[in-house]
Amino acid sequence: MELIRTVAELRARTAAARGRGLSIGLVPTMGAFHEGHLSLMRRARNDDGLVVVSLFVNPAQFGREEDLERYPRDLERDAALAAEVGVDVLFTPEAHEVYPSGFATYIHVEGLGEILEGASRPGHFRGVATVVAKLFQMAGPDRAYFGQKDYQQLRVIQRMAIDLDFSVKVVPLPIVREPDGLAMSSRNVYLSPEARAQATVLSRALREVAAAAAAGERDVGVLEAQALATIANAPLARTDYATIVDAKTLAPLTLLDREAVLLLAVRFGSTRLIDNTVLTPHSSIR
Ligand code: AMP
Repeated sequence: MELIRTVAELRARTAAARGRGLSIGLVPTMGAFHEGHLSLMRRARNDDGLVVVSLFVNPAQFGREEDLERYPRDLERDAALAAEVGVDVLFTPEAHEVYPSGFATYIHVEGLGEILEGASRPGHFRGVATVVAKLFQMAGPDRAYFGQKDYQQLRVIQRMAIDLDFSVKVVPLPIVREPDGLAMSSRNVYLSPEARAQATVLSRALREVAAAAAAGERDVGVLEAQALATIANAPLARTDYATIVDAKTLAPLTLLDREAVLLLAVRFGSTRLIDNTVLTPHSSIR
């Protein structure tokens, strides 16, 4: 595996691969790899000729009060894990390589980027969309792999790729969970042992609501109340939102009459966890 730090080197490497007829798969990450990240890399390894993983803790997507400084970083461990799953290139630019002095251009995805996570974390999706667009420009991938763990992020990126005519295929992959159901996240390491034990309420709420929907409950208010009640079983949990929205547009729903997604954002102290599940209506009248 090659470690690359500059855009020029990355371009040279991807151009050479393209010249040899290889497809390019890109997995954008912020590092601190876990099985969620590795599942994306394995899929890219399976489907593409050259696998590029970017590891960049993107300052533009962190709010002022957020965890940019303390975000977990361990390049040596990450490089070993990426090499193990067969990644060809680990692209780890410095911040000034991505945002050189004078940088002034940002991508704003209206609507989708402003609600839910976008409302709780102003500027977050502007940072995400901008860095992903730049990574698409730098690597020129045929396919880019994203986890459904960050469901709204996935929708924002799909919207951006369509609106800006990127030719990349955005490939969504399922959420990877710990054995007790907690969705894997680099931020889980911040949880105290008590909070870690209680954090299973998120996946429990998702499972219960999915079961109720599958059993025929179509009232979104009832289903959302059920999610809130389950989360309230965890004394340390503070719910930011537990909302059922249209799976594509993320517009609010009152009736579960189309494919929808239950999105959760729950704080445990200063650690904010997100999780989600897609809900399919029990029976839709056509
Ligand atoms: P991050 O390093 O947190 O920015 O995540 C990089 C990519 O890994 C994103 O596409 C995430 O959605 C994805 N990812 C993070 N956690 C998981 C998980 N538990 N399961 C699947 N994908 C994940």
